[in-house]
Amino acid sequence: MRLFCFLFIMCVGFNFAAADPTNPNKTKIKVVVDAGHGGMDSGAQSDSVLEKQIVADVSSQLKALCNDNNIEVILLRTEDKFMSLEDRVSKIKALSPDLVISLHANYSENRERNGVEVFVAENDFTVKSSYFGTKILESFKRKDFKTSALRSANFFLLKNLDCPAVSIELGFLSNAEDMKYLNSEFGQKFIAKQIVSSLD
Ligand SMILES: [Zn+2]
Repeated sequence: MRLFCFLFIMCVGFNFAAADPTNPNKTKIKVVVDAGHGGMDSGAQSDSVLEKQIVADVSSQLKALCNDNNIEVILLRTEDKFMSLEDRVSKIKALSPDLVISLHANYSENRERNGVEVFVAENDFTVKSSYFGTKILESFKRKDFKTSALRSANFFLLKNLDCPAVSIELGFLSNAEDMKYLNSEFGQKFIAKQIVSSLD
């Protein structure tokens, strides 16, 4: 609850300041995109659709969209290979990015559940992570995606990084509409576009 009061104050504050705290002079920002799962770890699965593939495809779209703007995108996982969370954390630390975006797809027993969720950890970077997390959610919301409020979660990857980081659940593979969208090139491009537009 403390975090949410804090986040509320922070969001109101940022509306007035409207400055990116990690990039006040608008120089090129370095973003590491962490496609979750890989190899033997498929993540969530619905029919033949695998979370590891969806997030890898969206990460490629993100990279393609940022070819000639102010965002340098580095993909942490470019192959269908298992990577432990510890390995991800140490590789990301070596890259010292301005922001980490970890991509996942959700699954629920309740097949009605749908939409985008964004998580940040409570650590030294919560303010900056929340700034980006809020912008990402707003960008999806503007395009009529269902979004929930920014959530706090002490995921291993998020809490152990020494830079701002967000984890995005792009949609629910257990929901027929979300799944169809997530599994289409059109949907993957559109999702990547919303994320990129919130980084500018
Ligand atoms: Zn996942």
